[in-house]
Amino acid sequence: DFSVSLPKTGDDELGDLARSIQLLAGDLNYLREERNEFLSSISHELRTPLTYIKGYADIVQKRDLSPEERSQYLSIILEETNRLSDMVKNLFDLARIDKNTFDIKKRPIDLKEFMKKIETKFSPAFTEKGMLLSVNCLESITISADASRLEQIIFNLLDNAIKYSSPGDKTTINISRTKKHVIININDTGRGISEEELPFIFNRFYRVDKSRARALGGTGLGLAIVKELVHAHGGTISVCSREGDGTEFEIVFKGETECENNTFG
Ligand code: ADP
Repeated sequence: DFSVSLPKTGDDELGDLARSIQLLAGDLNYLREERNEFLSSISHELRTPLTYIKGYADIVQKRDLSPEERSQYLSIILEETNRLSDMVKNLFDLARIDKNTFDIKKRPIDLKEFMKKIETKFSPAFTEKGMLLSVNCLESITISADASRLEQIIFNLLDNAIKYSSPGDKTTINISRTKKHVIININDTGRGISEEELPFIFNRFYRVDKSRARALGGTGLGLAIVKELVHAHGGTISVCSREGDGTEFEIVFKGETECENNTFG
């Protein structure tokens, strides 16, 4: 425990110093608790797919199975292996972000062109589920960003839009700008998030409905990574949502000229 007990001091400089040390000790305790919680979540989250993999591998090895059963169990093993691999990749990204060794290679990106590619790439995934993706970017807007990280941000948000929507729902990306900022707005008409859950959705491993999110293939790390990547670009992200109505994420980046002299990441 980082608790410190300092002699009672008055309003002089020594008193200020004592209070600062006490605050710092509080921060360190908080960080340590947060780290312990994170580590225990990781072991829990890794154990679940491993349990499935081991269980079904045992069955496939020991029992006489029909070809259908065999193929069904092997699919589960494959699915859980993919989940593990996604989770390890996500955890690796987060660890590098936390250690500040995350490489952000910023280059000027023409958002109109970039979003056209995103639309072409992701539309089939929406169509396949009977949903629609539409992208609106009227003017040419340039931002300074790491293209593959920006794609990861958009991918995670679109992946959620698909997971938490139903056939007939629509997801729209709107790109706009003000004098100083570029705004990427991604909204869906999916099932939305309740007011009580909304403050927590960017937390690591937080899922509104654990079993449902698991069935949909989530790791609970997608939005945590989005938030870190947006911050690593010097941007901000916010969310608005109403249960039953849909969800809207808004990412605000500084415009090209504001970014040029900054180094991030
Ligand atoms: P997951 O891997 O579970 O999707 P995320 O970190 O991406 O984890 O999201 C955290 C939780 O936030 C999800 O489990 C889901 O409950 C909620 N959520 C995220 N995006 C949306 C959305 N577009 N619509 C409704 N709920 C969402």
